[in-house]
Amino acid sequence: MDYDYDVVVIGAGPGGSMAAKTCAEEGLNVLLVEKRQEIGAPVRCAEGISKEGLERFFEIDRKWIAREVSGAIIYSPDGTELKLSSEMAGNEVGFVLERKIFDRDLARMASKAGAEVIVKTTATGMEREKDGLRIRLKRMGEDYEVTAKIVVGADGVESRVGKWAGIDTTVKLGEIESCVQYLMTNIEFDPDFCHFWIGQKYAPGGYVWLFPKGESSANVGIGILPTMTKKTAKWWLDRFVQEYYPDGKIVEFVVGGVPVTGPIDTAVSDNVMLVGDAARHADPITGGGIANAIKGGYFAGKVAKEAVDAENYSKEFLRRYDEMWKNDFGKTLHRNKLLQKKFLKLSDETLDRLIRSIAGYNLEEISVKRLVLELIKKNPKLLWDIRHLF
Ligand code: FAD
Repeated sequence: MDYDYDVVVIGAGPGGSMAAKTCAEEGLNVLLVEKRQEIGAPVRCAEGISKEGLERFFEIDRKWIAREVSGAIIYSPDGTELKLSSEMAGNEVGFVLERKIFDRDLARMASKAGAEVIVKTTATGMEREKDGLRIRLKRMGEDYEVTAKIVVGADGVESRVGKWAGIDTTVKLGEIESCVQYLMTNIEFDPDFCHFWIGQKYAPGGYVWLFPKGESSANVGIGILPTMTKKTAKWWLDRFVQEYYPDGKIVEFVVGGVPVTGPIDTAVSDNVMLVGDAARHADPITGGGIANAIKGGYFAGKVAKEAVDAENYSKEFLRRYDEMWKNDFGKTLHRNKLLQKKFLKLSDETLDRLIRSIAGYNLEEISVKRLVLELIKKNPKLLWDIRHLF
């Protein structure tokens, strides 16, 4: 049978555009479908990414970067500051993106490589068609269908592609961070650092962040676990903003969810691969998902090429995509899920003690791994049960 496309990618976030770009660069006939009328907007993200996360795949274009930061400051519930600053590789902070520009550019790169990109078009369903799939699309009220050998589901946290394909991507209520964020101006902070407030006092089951976008403007947001508080994320954020930035002006408001399930068993089914938030690839500790979405998109594109060459779109064949993401960032997702469970049980007093134990240290690398290793060294009794994770 002749298919309209080798690959249809559903969703033009970083995961989908990277998958489409990689497929097109590999010479595949690929369609990238985005339901919103503008790629990259509205932004539902604090836009922080490590330098490494970008540099691994791109020559960095300065217009993608709103602000470059040199470190992070973590505030414990009693206000103790832990300053982490370094220029070394491996840092989990580095750039605050302008995602409106970055996401659009990534889709443009996919298009330049040969992908067909359509916006304002929603995938509404799919079914099996011989060896491939028939995908239902809705464009400005009009229904139509296309066929493809492979579908890459990059449709974000509310993904339906996984469900259509029978992949278990269930997210329980206690496994989704409920997030609210304001873009604020007229506020004072150190613009060379990303700022994090931790503990039940600020954000039950999550944290408050401030990621600089300029000298006096920043993404100020919160993620909470709805199972740990009866109040909404907005209630907690408003309380924080009133206390810390009462004179700030809110110029944008976003809400969204981040899945923090940890790694799922498989992100593939016959003819289908899931990437990014659709595959629950966001980090359970940091909530960061851009870098893993980009990596997943790249791996899925490479495996799509192998599958098309081999004319084999079976789940068994596509499992090599599972192997790639599991070997790359799957272990970190697993470890950070266990760390998240441990840290969720700690009281604010214990968090204060932990932060105090290493405040004043100059850690050479800003990563969850480095930070927790240092905490274990200083607090062996308290954290003995997680030492095996490293
Ligand atoms: P998305 O970026 O969500 O893209 C999915 C795309 O699919 C969307 O454009 C959507 O419109 C489209 N789509 C959905 N369904 C369909 C359909 N049926 N048909 C067609 N198109 C469809 N991560 C970080 O790394 N750093 C951060 O600082 C950070 N901050 C965050 C702050 C907030 C408030 C939130 C909510 C998330 C944050 N994240 C952060 C997580 C990050 O935004 C996601 O992990 C990342 O965007 C995942 O990329 P993606 O390509 O998988 O999905």
